[in-house]
Amino acid sequence: MKIAVCPGSFDPVTSGHLDVIERGARLFGKVVVGVFEKTGKTPLFSLNKRVNFIESAIKENLCLNNVEVESFNTLLIDFAHKHGACAIIKGLRAVSDFEHEFQMAQFNRKLDPSIETIFMMASSQYAYLSSSAVKEIAKFGGRIEGLVTPEVEKGLRKVFEL
Ligand code: ADP
Repeated sequence: MKIAVCPGSFDPVTSGHLDVIERGARLFGKVVVGVFEKTGKTPLFSLNKRVNFIESAIKENLCLNNVEVESFNTLLIDFAHKHGACAIIKGLRAVSDFEHEFQMAQFNRKLDPSIETIFMMASSQYAYLSSSAVKEIAKFGGRIEGLVTPEVEKGLRKVFEL
């Protein structure tokens, strides 16, 4: 069975992330979503919350049974080895994502050339969507319906006391 990992900070998971996870789950026997424990900045949601949001979206919204969610705090390549993965799935939104992702893919190839990084073009309806944009809109009371799951929407409302 071919296994892929799909890494990110998911702070919080958006419909754009879920779209990539769902498409990945159609191509691979199993997809392990890896939630980075440490992100560059202090995350809005705890690691547990970020994992739980993805888990319930996968079970309740997408009904996928070949996707698992796990947090990690190691090199991505080591996380991939741990799960016996042959691929890393990443989403690409705009040209602005490219440079960073290209660099990461080169590094990861150097660390283990047998693990392939696969890029999926963002679906057009989510091409502009990022976790930070969702947080910014939610913070000022804007509508985020459809951009995140109802559970994440509730979580954001609670954090920003709306
Ligand atoms: P963000 O960039 O939104 O903070 P992450 O760091 O959690 O999200 O990103 C994890 C992966 O998901 C990255 O490969 C990123 O390019 C991809 N991704 C994020 N948002 C989208 C989207 N709307 N459509 C497709 N891929 C996305």
